[in-house]
Amino acid sequence: MFAFSAINLGCSKNMVDLEFAIGEILKYSDRAEIEYVEDPEARETDYVLVNTCGFLSSARQESEETLSYYDSLGKKLILMGCYVSVKDDAFLAGLKNLVSIVPFMSYSVIEELVLGKKSKFNLSAIVKAKQAHKQSKEKTLSNYLASIEAPGKWKKAFVWRGDEVRAYMHAPFGHEYLKVAEGCDNNCTFCIIPTIRGRQTSRSMESIIQEVNVMLSQGISEIQIISQDTTRYGTDLYQEAKLIELLQKIDATIDEFVIKNKSKHTPTYRVYYLYPDILTLDHLSKLKDLKHFLPYFDIPFQHASENILKLMGRHYDRKHIDSFIEYIRDNFPNSFIRTSFIIGFPGETDADFQILLDFVNKYQFESVGIFEYHDEPLAASSKLPNKVEESIAKNRIKEITPVLNAVYDSKKQARSGKIQSGYIMDIKDTSAIIRPQMAAPEIDDYDEIALDKITGNIEIGSHVSYTL
Ligand code: SF4
Repeated sequence: MFAFSAINLGCSKNMVDLEFAIGEILKYSDRAEIEYVEDPEARETDYVLVNTCGFLSSARQESEETLSYYDSLGKKLILMGCYVSVKDDAFLAGLKNLVSIVPFMSYSVIEELVLGKKSKFNLSAIVKAKQAHKQSKEKTLSNYLASIEAPGKWKKAFVWRGDEVRAYMHAPFGHEYLKVAEGCDNNCTFCIIPTIRGRQTSRSMESIIQEVNVMLSQGISEIQIISQDTTRYGTDLYQEAKLIELLQKIDATIDEFVIKNKSKHTPTYRVYYLYPDILTLDHLSKLKDLKHFLPYFDIPFQHASENILKLMGRHYDRKHIDSFIEYIRDNFPNSFIRTSFIIGFPGETDADFQILLDFVNKYQFESVGIFEYHDEPLAASSKLPNKVEESIAKNRIKEITPVLNAVYDSKKQARSGKIQSGYIMDIKDTSAIIRPQMAAPEIDDYDEIALDKITGNIEIGSHVSYTL
């Protein structure tokens, strides 16, 4: 029996890799006894898949602590994720139960792990054979996967892509992540993701649309489009940015699905990690014509002072981002702007910070992530002069936080008494936790609503309307 569980550390992009790794294990269910166990600490859990993060030294530390903890419980460890690219071999050598390291984006080691042997066949023979049996194998496997005792919450949703299988663990909450590219061509001085994940590698439009169709057929009604730099989708594969064309294709695919299935609820999609430098007002104007695009703009500006943007290696200026935000506010009535800022970046003066304060006051963003600068030893910025004292950075965060909270409170106030819509994320005795339609899962604020104020089917993942 291969009884395994899984832990995800890090971002949604990492999570997608974990879902493929879980799918990859379950793929062998017709040749081995396999059980997915929800609780990694459970007695029956033999193997724990630890999907690590390595983006910051604090994340690497958390990854090592997690590995040490499950090692001390005697669990067989399968290591994957970003930590693998920046791993500390001495630390790993100290683990007693590390049985496998899954290299980035290649899951072939899993076969040997699950089946206990490496298939001796030569690859071309396998490919030919698989092509021949793909249809029937896919059918049998999907039927089998649908029947296994995977935890009720996600047992029915899998995709078979070429040779890979993915388990959709968010499907019952009504949404799922669609990763359209990996890696990044930018070199922001505070970031080591290009070191960990390599250069921009876009998926083909065909494979993305194929997966969109599978998601829709699995009842997923909100698709989260992610990558490191989504604006640059296609620049590697098609030698030009093809994000708008991709979104137009996804929009048409949803249209076809809705018409063919007469589905009551119209699926939507949201785009993350819009890197603002090559995005133009013309791009934005084309977004206006898309029917299923949620006017949610996730644009990590990171700062508003041009002095700091230069030191960060970010290639845009205030004139560009101001015109951007104003176009969004003027042309997308229910626009929701999500952004993030790093505070305490080397060289940040009081004047730079004041520019940032004025920026958030002026544009009243719906959701802001605030990060205290972290001197990441593997990043270029760690070599920059004029480091900001920790206490000053903390005081600046103390100063900007109430400004942001005041914006959130006034926006929440503006919603009260009005009919809202959203997805049920959890149900309590007399209330339910609802993710408002415009709020991103696991990032933005949810609402807690009394059950009698909700209209619709009160079930996890269902789309309902309610009054705040
Ligand atoms: S855009 Fe910058 S911050 Fe984002 S992944 Fe690329 S290098 Fe890192």
